[in-house]
Amino acid sequence: MTELPPTDRTRLRRLHGRGRFDRATIDAVLDAQPLCHIAYLRDGVPALLPSLQWREGDRVYWHGSSASHALRAQIGTEVCLAVTLLDGLVLARSGFHHSANYRSVMLFGRPEWIEDPRRKEQHLETFFERLLPGRWKSLRPVTQQELKATAVLSLPIREASAKIRTGPPVDEQADYALPIWAGVLPLRTTVGAPIPDPRNPEGLPPPAEPGTFRSG
Ligand SMILES: Cc1cc2nc3c(=O)[nH]c(=O)nc-3n(C[C@H](O)[C@H](O)[C@H](O)COP(=O)(O)OP(=O)(O)OC[C@H]3O[C@@H](n4cnc5c(N)ncnc54)[C@H](O)[C@@H]3O)c2cc1C
Repeated sequence: MTELPPTDRTRLRRLHGRGRFDRATIDAVLDAQPLCHIAYLRDGVPALLPSLQWREGDRVYWHGSSASHALRAQIGTEVCLAVTLLDGLVLARSGFHHSANYRSVMLFGRPEWIEDPRRKEQHLETFFERLLPGRWKSLRPVTQQELKATAVLSLPIREASAKIRTGPPVDEQADYALPIWAGVLPLRTTVGAPIPDPRNPEGLPPPAEPGTFRSG
């Protein structure tokens, strides 16, 4: 199992037992949740960009408009990308010990801005394949103009940590005797029934279930 070496930025200070640095755990979290948040500095002020991410081997990718100020501000600078799954609310016998069950990953580094249109197209196809298997091939081909208007960025999975909480609440010993319900309220993202565009031609089959959410 590949272990990433903790750095000054990724070493957990508190509750370090919840930290994981093995790539299998980190990759499983990245692959289970396309939603990420990317923190960066814009003119010296912290900003946070929600986006979709996908993993290809040892790198994480995200995309957006080539004209996006947020994406342009991420060129040549350090960013922090976080992926989070909220798995449950943990109800304890005191307010203090309430918690959440979760899986999360934080990555640090300097993004690469991918210029080559052919590489961009390949990465975008992989993105589609992860999220909606088979859909890319069913679409009209992407144009050069659309590729030019789309930025693709990536970050190596080199400086990263995962943090995971599972299981029941951890209460004060004396509190376990209290007549207060304690336990976990599980939470999960589910896929609803597809809603067809009213402009669809008659009789088209709905898409297959998204790929990424299956393990999330
Ligand atoms: C859905 C969700 C809800 C949460 N709610 C709360 C809350 O309400 N209150 C609260 O105090 N904490 C909450 N946490 C935990 C929170 O994300 C931090 O882990 C915690 O606050 C750590 O703070 P710290 O200053 O001790 O971090 P430190 O241990 O000092 O952080 C050092 C390094 O450890 C790693 N690290 C820390 N936290 C995480 C993480 N979550 N995922 C991956 N790597 C991490 C990073 O590399 C970070 O740079 C929540 C986490 C999740 C995912």
